[in-house]
Amino acid sequence: MNAGTHRPTIIEVDAQAIRENIHQELARMDRKSDLFAVVKADGYGHGLVQVAKFVSEAGATGFCVAILDEALELRTAGFTQPILILGIVEPKYAQLLAEQKISVAVGSCDWLKKAAPFVHGDEPVRVHLALDTGMGRIGFQDQDELKTALDYLQTHSDQFLFEGIFTHFATADETDDQYFKLQLSRFNAFMDVLPQRPRYVHVANSATSLWHKVCEGNMIRFGIALYGMNPSGKALSTPYKLKPAMAVTSELVFTKLLKKGRSVGYGATYTAQQDEWIGTLPIGYADGYPRCLQGFHVLVDGQSCEIVGRICMDQLMIRLPHDYTVGTKVVLVGKSGEQEIKMEDVAEAAHTISYEIACGFAPRIPRIYL
Ligand code: PLP
Repeated sequence: MNAGTHRPTIIEVDAQAIRENIHQELARMDRKSDLFAVVKADGYGHGLVQVAKFVSEAGATGFCVAILDEALELRTAGFTQPILILGIVEPKYAQLLAEQKISVAVGSCDWLKKAAPFVHGDEPVRVHLALDTGMGRIGFQDQDELKTALDYLQTHSDQFLFEGIFTHFATADETDDQYFKLQLSRFNAFMDVLPQRPRYVHVANSATSLWHKVCEGNMIRFGIALYGMNPSGKALSTPYKLKPAMAVTSELVFTKLLKKGRSVGYGATYTAQQDEWIGTLPIGYADGYPRCLQGFHVLVDGQSCEIVGRICMDQLMIRLPHDYTVGTKVVLVGKSGEQEIKMEDVAEAAHTISYEIACGFAPRIPRIYL
């Protein structure tokens, strides 16, 4: 399905905000370190190729994605920088990885053994060994497993290039750093069995880079913060002001005076206590705006307006302070006058994280780049 360009619901992406977030992080980083921009999931909903362009202009030297298709899309779009796939790729695609010079996370020696028969060209597969220090998702769990893989890589250097080693922290965005420290000590124990460091050693996502300057790596995997969102939601304050890059806006497409006692939406869960002005917006849960947000608010003309009644698949209703004309702009995420709704606010109201809200906006909402 193509983006719906014939309705007034849009996502605006502020390229300059993205560039500024990258600049701010680069200014804090060790000059010898690389910043790889995490652009998976369509650049957290902001647009894969467009974000890749903005971050490259701002000084990011590589990209992280989740799946092979995202990496291939970047190559097809002409990006020649290093690309690391953070998820597991099926070993049968090893030759494609090699040809395209796409690096891949490897979490077991078994993967290497399965991939080896597929690698037959001049280019080796660039491998980043994933260390499971406590995330419990992918990676080597102990030193012996790691040593076996290191030996295998050494004896199969025609097929594999040991390019990186990394781990991922599960609690870097939390105030309590006990579990973080446990993971860090496990990581250091892994590093002790490494005969020599590969080109990239990386442990930091946004939260780790923002709040834990204790780890020595030479590359960071910078995701949510580049889009201007606080990885911790509202728990921790960031060392610099992040600039939100995404705004979601729509327009009133219908307004009416609802008589006292009349109800709104499926289940008739909202009933007017007096005569009141109700506006309808062309956006709903099929667009990724969570259905549970009845009772939350949007901004009209710098004023907060409650979402009344259940959110429908493609429409939702709001209570207006007075009659507004059809075509009046409504802000669902972003600024209106002195007011602002941040992605973190929407996430909090929906009992989730801003990541899920941002990457959940459907492709049918057009992305417009400022
Ligand atoms: N590194 C890994 C392994 C990830 O899975 C992710 C995101 O999920 C990131 C880095 C980026 O994290 P963030 O968006 O919190 O910076």
